[in-house]
Amino acid sequence: MPNPVPGQDNSVAGVSGGGCGTVTGESVTGPGARRFTSVDPRTGETVGHYPLRTPEEVEDTVASARAAGEWWSGLGFGGRAARLAAWRRHLVRHFDELAHLVCAETGKPVDDARVEVAMAVEHLSWAARHAERVLGRRRVPSGWLMNNQVSTVEYLPLGVVGVIGPWNFPVLTPMGSIAYALAAGNTVVFKPSELTPGVGRWLAASLAESVPERELLHTVTGAGDTGAALCASGVDKISFTGSASTGRAVLHACADSLTPVVLECGGKDALIVGEGADLGRAADAAVWGGLSNAGQICVSVERIYVVEAVAEEFLRLLVERVARVRPGGEPHADYGPMTDPAQVEVVRRQLAEALERGGRALVGGVESVRPPYVEPVVLVDVPEEALVSSEETFGPVLVVHRVPDLDTAVARANSGRHALGAAVFAGPAGADLAPRLRAGMVAVDGVLTFAAVPALPFGGSGESGFGRVHGEDGLRGFARAQSVVRRRFRPLLNPMTFTGRTRAVRRLGRLLRLRYRR
Ligand code: NAD
Repeated sequence: MPNPVPGQDNSVAGVSGGGCGTVTGESVTGPGARRFTSVDPRTGETVGHYPLRTPEEVEDTVASARAAGEWWSGLGFGGRAARLAAWRRHLVRHFDELAHLVCAETGKPVDDARVEVAMAVEHLSWAARHAERVLGRRRVPSGWLMNNQVSTVEYLPLGVVGVIGPWNFPVLTPMGSIAYALAAGNTVVFKPSELTPGVGRWLAASLAESVPERELLHTVTGAGDTGAALCASGVDKISFTGSASTGRAVLHACADSLTPVVLECGGKDALIVGEGADLGRAADAAVWGGLSNAGQICVSVERIYVVEAVAEEFLRLLVERVARVRPGGEPHADYGPMTDPAQVEVVRRQLAEALERGGRALVGGVESVRPPYVEPVVLVDVPEEALVSSEETFGPVLVVHRVPDLDTAVARANSGRHALGAAVFAGPAGADLAPRLRAGMVAVDGVLTFAAVPALPFGGSGESGFGRVHGEDGLRGFARAQSVVRRRFRPLLNPMTFTGRTRAVRRLGRLLRLRYRR
């Protein structure tokens, strides 16, 4: 069983912590080394102490990961799949232990943490099982011009992938990169959020225990500086998940070295409710999509556009359901605290501004903000210019806008700078709306469901970032395509030589006209 906070440089029991991610000046790994504390946001109790890794330490870690990479890529798909299956079995055996650690560092109810771990296991399993089919060498047609050649394409490992993660899903979100990068033959250096370093360390220790031959997943703990050091460390790709403002800093840091980047940033997801929808199910989905994990999900439902004809009934059902939902620190609370204390103020400010601009609270209000918890809030009559309508809230707040018809709902859902996920409840018309939505993922008659389908690419555009994780796109994102063309026999016509080229080009022209005469 892996130590949840392995290594001698952390987990100093009995030392009370400051705020989440508090930096102290105490020595951890040697003279002058600094450390920080992760705390349980429900109680403020210390979960563990971790070193703030310096740029030199990050570089050394990347060098170790690179050394292990040669062995790992040399194993081939079968050898890697067998070892990733061993890790999967290990995660399943220690499922509850990991869920409890997630619960301690994020404050989320343990059942939420269990679902998160289960989904992460599914991603690991899918990536390992499908890597060869997606990335392995395959023959492609050479075309009539090059029909004397055999053409193949394969997707080779990049080398070392740097993964920078957030705190809201400290297992599922990084696993969406780690599992796919490993399955593609890379090794990984992971910088977990400073709020959830213990989960990061646990994941690395669990892989080391399941596959002891080499260290394939390294963790570098620390705050933003450590993340910035990882961007500048010479890794072959950065997979970043976090806020758009940090995403910009990551992009800047990677520009000098042309390190490729995938950015999974925030969202402002819309749910559309139209005539023909099962309004009870739509209300259930809105409540789950907006309030689960205290709204701290990049694809949380934050805006609802409901057509006028069904608005009254939908709002009645929504308010009735929201009124039953309660946050708390106990194991069976509906959702937990705000994990990042700084986010509480963002939510409070957005609520106050919306109410000042004429918004009305059907459930809760500014008084719902009771740190570390925020009670559910439902707002109506909020202008589109209000912060709560346009900026990511990342809290348990649903803003409902009434619209005359589905066309207006689509236009307003598509407005704004974010474009991550979306959801539609509109009866048989629902599926037809999906292609009209400027969203990377759309759930029809459901919410958030796409995140649990490993075969589906996940990601957004605009302020929500670019690139994709998960699915075939996710696997290819951690690999470099290599095309190989091999001559099979002498060509009938060769315009790519200085010998006899004029004749060959003349014949080529005749063939071209024959081939494309219509
Ligand atoms: P954040 O941007 O504050 O931090 C994310 C990570 O970046 C942390 O590990 C942090 O230490 C690191 N970091 C900070 N400064 C850095 C720098 N200069 N260079 C490199 N790394 C740096 O985000 P957060 O508060 O941890 O997470 C919440 C955000 O993440 C929300 O906006 C949420 O929507 C988003 N998110 C997106 C997805 C997605 O898949 N699209 C998933 C989960 C969360």
